[in-house]
Order: sequence, then structure tokens, then C-alpha cells
Amino acid sequence: MTKMRALVLEKQHELKLRDIELPTEVGPGEVKIKLHTVGVCGSDVHYYTHGRIGPFVVNAPMVLGHEAAGTVVEVGAGVSNLKLGDRVCMEPGVPDPNSKASRLGMYNIDPAVTFWATPPIHGVLTPYVVHPANYTFKLPDNVSFAEGAMVEPFAVGMQAATKAKITPGDTAIVMGAGPIGTMVALAALAGGCSRVIITDLAQPKLDIAGQYQGIIPVNIKDKKLVDEVNRLTENWGADVVFECSGSPRAWQGITDVVRPGGTIVVVGLPVEPIDFDIASLSVKEITIASVFRYAHQYERAIALMASGRVDLKPLISETFSFEDSIKAFDRAVEARPTDVKLQILMEA
Ligand code: NAD
Ligand code: ZN
Repeated sequence: MTKMRALVLEKQHELKLRDIELPTEVGPGEVKIKLHTVGVCGSDVHYYTHGRIGPFVVNAPMVLGHEAAGTVVEVGAGVSNLKLGDRVCMEPGVPDPNSKASRLGMYNIDPAVTFWATPPIHGVLTPYVVHPANYTFKLPDNVSFAEGAMVEPFAVGMQAATKAKITPGDTAIVMGAGPIGTMVALAALAGGCSRVIITDLAQPKLDIAGQYQGIIPVNIKDKKLVDEVNRLTENWGADVVFECSGSPRAWQGITDVVRPGGTIVVVGLPVEPIDFDIASLSVKEITIASVFRYAHQYERAIALMASGRVDLKPLISETFSFEDSIKAFDRAVEARPTDVKLQILMEA
């Protein structure tokens, strides 16, 4: 253990930039990474403002941050996929590789998974972290650290697009043009959708998402989604609907915009249980799929970014220095409609 400066959530509403003891010993199969860029995620902000997410409660000081990229500065015994100086990004969740879920390929839903900045596990808003090499991925030269720190939320989009079983040419709807919704839309397009209708109430978010070819923004403050979908699909409906707002309102009438035999993918997580008309699924034989983070998505996410097919740079709204990281969080709490992703630059 070594004392390192870190952004520590002491308890709900209280952040401090201070020294804290963190592990720095590099064991077999592990690498030590010097952090370069860390993104601010809605979940980090939620722990700050609410002190908990569902069953995960901040009972002790916890370092925040889990969307990260950096450079390998130490390589443990037996590591063959990485070397000193490699630019990398990391999967924040580490499962038990021998668990039943892991052996079935669903390591993201291994009950034993540990995940950065999910209590009681520390996150990476600190200069160095030790991590398993198997969950650390080399960035190609044409993918920047800032983009590397976007791989984590983009992997959620990749998982959603994978779960949707997209067929080339599909029409999708994404509800909610936050960072997750917009990245789900980009993954759906990369996965073969011909067009993605994206909805929100905040026009600036729709303007940012609407810059991408293939994304059709619809402001549900001005227009009824079902009318737009009927107009665009000749009353057939969308092949896939990705719910990415987490708003209970989004579920009202959701089956009206899905085509017969279509799919709804649950990405957004309402804070409270919601009322939903299950019977409306039946007459259209709608499939419901759900997503918990991701498994096996990092390499493909990085490959799409390196190919130039997916450009996440326009989603980075502002970058703060590590010294200003509390300011970055207070800015995130403001929830400006013009902000998509805020990032923190760890290196001076
Ligand atoms: P966000 O709050 O930044 O974005 C949500 C967007 O939805 C906002 O722009 C908001 O204006 C919009 N919105 C609100 N009500 C709406 C409605 N009725 N219709 C359409 N849009 C509406 O959040 P985010 O960081 O983009 O995350 C989105 C959701 O995904 C959250 O619920 C989050 O908890 C969840 N999430 C799930 C996973 C997972 O693994 N399943 C991973 C990450 C995030
Ligand atoms: Zn995140």
C-alpha cells in the first residue's frame, strides 16, 4: 500500500482531494497503470449526490472514477499481452474467472464481480492503479487517451446492440440522448441499423446526437414519438427500441412504437419500480432484453473506434485538471443540457 492523492467521496455530498492508502504492489498477471484520462460517469455523480445506487451504499470513504485510460508503467510476472509504455484502457469490472457465470461467458453478471467506484471498491481518480492484464486493452496509435476513456460507456452501447440481435437495415429507436443513449445509437448504427431515431426533452442533447449521419433526433416535448415513428415506418414500428433514459415516462406506450415481433432493450435503470402494461407485449410477441454493463466488448469497441467508423470525440464536452476534479463533479451535478461527457486529465 502507498499513500496517493485521490478524489475521495467521504460520504454523500462530501468530496475531498486528499492522500489515501491504495494498493501499488504488482502481482503475477497484473500491470500498474499511470492514469491519463478519467471520464465522469452518471454513477459517480449519483454516489456523490445520493450516497448509494440501489443496494450499493457508500459506508466508507471511496475513490471515484471508472472510465479510464493510461500507460503501463510496470508489468507483473506472466503477463504476455502488454509491455512497458503501452497506452491502454481498462475494464473496471473484474470477475472470478472460475465462477459459473464467467465460465458461461457472462462474466459481467458474476455475483462476485468487483467494479471500480462501486462500494466498497476504490475507483481510479488517483495517479496509479494496479489491474489484471486480462482486463487491460492496448489502444491503437490513432485512438487517443480521451477516446480510450470513452471505451467504457461505449462498451455499454456495444452490449446493447449485441443483445438487440440487429439485422442489417433495421430501424431503431433510442430513448434518451445522454452519453449512454448516444453511444447506444452509434453502436446500433455500427451494428447494421440503417437509421436510429433518438428522443429526448433537452434540445441541445438532440442537436449533438443529430450531428451524426443516420441519427434522427425527435424532441418529445414538441412531437409525439408514435406519430413520428408511424410516419417514418409506414405504421409498422421500429425493429428495436433501446430504453436509455431511465425515466418511467419512457415506458408509457413504448409497445406502440415497436413493430410486431420487435425487441425492447432495457438499458436505462429507473430508480423506483415502474408500472408497465405487460399484456401489451403479448399481442406483438415483443422480446425484452436487458443489459448489465458488458462482457467481451472492449476489443470490438476499440476496433470500431480505430477504424474511424465510430467517432466519440464530439461527445467530450469539457476536460478538467485533476486538481479541479471537484469542480468537474459540481459541474456534472448542474446537468447542463449542453454537456454530454466531462473528463478529468490526470497528468499535468
Ligand atoms: P443521463 O441522465 O445523462 O441521460 C438520460 C437522458 O434521458 C437525458 O438527456 C434526459 O433529458 C433524457 N430523458 C429523460 N426523460 C426522458 C424521456 N421520457 N424520454 C426520452 N428521454 C428522456 O444518463 P446516462 O449516463 O446517459 O445513462 C442513461 C441511463 O442508463 C441511466 O438510467 C443509467 O443508470 C443507465 N445505465 C445503465 C447501464 C447498464 O449497464 N444497464 C450502464 C450505464 C448506465
Ligand atoms: Zn460509467
